[in-house]
Amino acid sequence: MSASCSSGQSGPSVDTHPCFSKDAHHKYARMHLAVAPACNIQCNYCNRKYDCANESRPGVVSELLTPQQAVEKVRAVKAKIPQLTVVGIAGPGDPLANPARTFETCERIAAEFPELQLCLSTNGLTLPQHVERIKALNVHHVTITINALDPEVGAKVYPWIFHNNRRIRGKKAAAILIRNQFKGLEMLVERGVLVKVNSVMIPGMNEDHLLEVNKVVSEKGAFLHNIMPLISAPEHGTYFGLMGQRNPEDGELEALRARCAGDVELMTHCRQCRADAVGMLGEDRNAEFTMDKIA
Ligand code: SF4
Ligand code: SF4
Repeated sequence: MSASCSSGQSGPSVDTHPCFSKDAHHKYARMHLAVAPACNIQCNYCNRKYDCANESRPGVVSELLTPQQAVEKVRAVKAKIPQLTVVGIAGPGDPLANPARTFETCERIAAEFPELQLCLSTNGLTLPQHVERIKALNVHHVTITINALDPEVGAKVYPWIFHNNRRIRGKKAAAILIRNQFKGLEMLVERGVLVKVNSVMIPGMNEDHLLEVNKVVSEKGAFLHNIMPLISAPEHGTYFGLMGQRNPEDGELEALRARCAGDVELMTHCRQCRADAVGMLGEDRNAEFTMDKIA
C-alpha cells in the first residue's frame, strides 16, 4: 500500500507502519506509550480502569509513564526490537486531553529518534485546536475514533463531554464532539497528515449508522477506516452505559464491512491492542520493558 492508495493524500510514507499498511504488519513493530491518563469525554464502553478504545481494546495498562520515562522505554525497546518503526500515544485516556504530556513526549522522541514515525490517537474533541502543533511536530499518523454522525446516535454512545470547563450531556454534547471530530479530520487531511478513523461497532446501537459514517469519512479523505467490534467481557470490568450489551457475533462485522460503500480502504488486520502494547501486531512484549526492568 502506498500513501496515495485510496485517499489521494500524499506526504508521509505508510510502507513501514504496521497498522496503516497490511504489508508492513509482518515486518515492522510498533509501541504505544501510556503517558496520557486523563480523558475529556465518557464513552459508554469505557470504565476508565482500562485503556482507551480510541486506539485499542479496553485492557489494563501496567504503568503510567512520564515523558522522560517514555523516552527511556523507547531506548530500551529499540535496542531489543530493531524492527521498531512507529511510536504511538493512545492512552490510557485521551492523548489530546493531556497535551502537555503528549507533546513533550513527541518532542523528546523526535529529538532523540528522528527516524521513528510518531502516531497519535484521539476521540477528537480538542483535535482542531491541536492540529497545527501535530503538524509542526511531524506526527505522521493520527487516528480519530468516530462512532456516529448523528447526535441522536452519538448521545447513546457518549453520555457526556467536558468542554470549555463545563460538563455537557446528551445530544448537545454529542453534536459538539462530532463537529470537532470531522473538523479535525478535514484539517489534518488538508495538511497531508494520514488519518485513520476507528469506529466501534455496537450491535443495535450504531451498526447501520456506521455505513453513513463510512461514506462521510471517505468523502473527507480519511486514509483508512477501521471498524472494530465492541469487546464487552467480564474481565474488562463493568461498562458504564452498556450493561448487558452484546458483542457482535461471528460474521456480523464482516457483513457490515461488506455493506460499506465508501471509497476509503477498510482496515482488517487491527488487533485491538492495549495502550501500552509493544512489538509486532498480534504480540505484546510490554512486560519485558516495564520501568523496573529497564531502569
Ligand atoms: Fe475511555 Fe477513550 Fe472513550 Fe475516553 S475516549 S472515555 S478513555 S474509551
Ligand atoms: Fe494498530 Fe489496531 Fe493495534 Fe492500533 S490497535 S496499534 S491500529 S493494530
